Amino acid sequence: SVHVHWHRRDLRATDNHSLSAAAETGSVIPAFIFDPAVLEFASPPRVAFMLESLSELRAWYRERGGDLVVATGDPREELPRIAREHGAERVSWNRDYSGLASKRDEEVREALTDAGIEATSVDDALLFEPGSITTQQGETYAVYSYFWKKWRDREKESPVSAPDGEQLASVSGDSLPSQEALGFDDPEATIPDAGMEAARRRLETFCADPIYRYADQRDDPAADATSGLSPHLKWGTIGIRTVYEALDRAKSEAPDEAAADSCEEFESQLAWRAFYAHVLDTNPHTVTANYRSYENPIQWQTDAAALQAWKDGKTGYPIVDAGMRQLRAEAFMHNRLRMIVASFLTKDLMLDWREGYAWFREKLADHDTASDVGGWQWASGTGTDAQPYFRIFNPMTQGERHDPDAEYIRTYVPELADVPAETIHEWVALEPDERASVAPEYPDPIVDHAARREAALDMFEAARGDE
Ligand code: FAD
Repeated sequence: SVHVHWHRRDLRATDNHSLSAAAETGSVIPAFIFDPAVLEFASPPRVAFMLESLSELRAWYRERGGDLVVATGDPREELPRIAREHGAERVSWNRDYSGLASKRDEEVREALTDAGIEATSVDDALLFEPGSITTQQGETYAVYSYFWKKWRDREKESPVSAPDGEQLASVSGDSLPSQEALGFDDPEATIPDAGMEAARRRLETFCADPIYRYADQRDDPAADATSGLSPHLKWGTIGIRTVYEALDRAKSEAPDEAAADSCEEFESQLAWRAFYAHVLDTNPHTVTANYRSYENPIQWQTDAAALQAWKDGKTGYPIVDAGMRQLRAEAFMHNRLRMIVASFLTKDLMLDWREGYAWFREKLADHDTASDVGGWQWASGTGTDAQPYFRIFNPMTQGERHDPDAEYIRTYVPELADVPAETIHEWVALEPDERASVAPEYPDPIVDHAARREAALDMFEAARGDE
């Protein structure tokens, strides 16, 4: 029998639950649909990553005698049409947990059922689907550490294999649309390498050695010591079971205990992704509303010029500017920097986290609603397990601690390329004429951190209803 697998955020052939189940039943037709209603929420870097991954996936199928069937339109119409055209009895896909997607999936299921076609969806994107790791009362954890212990101790599934050539229906798909034809500008960033092969290489390289230094170096942006897997996990160019298996193997082959602990540190980051997926699933309103409720509304400020300076990486705080410029240049930002720039926006500039979230959503190739919202709410003191409102990052201290040689800063802020690290770390404390003489092109700080720290504390205390 013929079976359609609908690819969405699972742009891979290996370790793909719905695809491998479909292949087992005989003859599978992989399909991808450009849905204008979904593309409305997309952005240039993400579309670029997606198109490159799709092009590689299609080549993978073609090399094996199959093809990727491509359509543009409403999946409620396109999927029944594709199924009918090829005589398929069944359409399946991997579940997408975000609120909007699950509603759409339900509608697609109805349309297929009405057309007499069987529709199934399965879990795939996470090791443990939302709702499966709960407190004894069956509630979603609000504190990560408890979630992590359960996640860590539960047995994990192994990867499933890719279909082989005989399991692919011989069909021929249309060509893929261009970035421009989809209505998106050039991303103006060097997008991370996309596709299954790039993901596999990243995982292999990371698990061969950097994973053993991860615990020590993950907060050091210049070391480039993290896996870089986030866009691949977002787009499903690698399966989570494959990542887990490689990490587990690295752990069992670790040269010493510290190296094994380092593997566990990496493992615990994967659990953050699952934690935030759980949180968003039970709290879909937190995409726009604060997770943690305060007595009074937080009086965020409005300051278009400050917001623009933050976006442009021109705040005059070197570490903040370096992070914001990495985002623009690479559609990616190191995790430590995401925390620093988010704290700066919400505490030093006292701007609403939703402004920052909107910018990240536009610029990140790895933008994932659950992790992005989770990260922003955590950093701004409104989220689960949040950084308490009174713990405010000092951007100068953060820069000195995490980028002592200012290597990361100098990579992204060319105006400071020739300035010694000590001077960079003192930038804010320098006299204006000193700043003008060492780096005339680089801006003066747009706010005074000490004063803003006090003002932000007042803002949060007023929201808490404190005197
Ligand atoms: P590694 O350190 O190698 O971690 C491995 C994987 O674990 C990551 O690929 C990611 O899937 C997961 N992970 C690691 N840290 C976190 C975390 N704190 N929360 C959730 N998952 C995590 N991550 C996204 O994938 N998409 C986002 O849109 C996103 N937005 C963020 C916004 C803010 C304000 C903050 C503070 C963090 C955000 N993160 C987001 C989490 C984290 O910064 C990135 O996952 C990480 O920097 C990606 O780099 P990596 O793959 O090299 O990470």
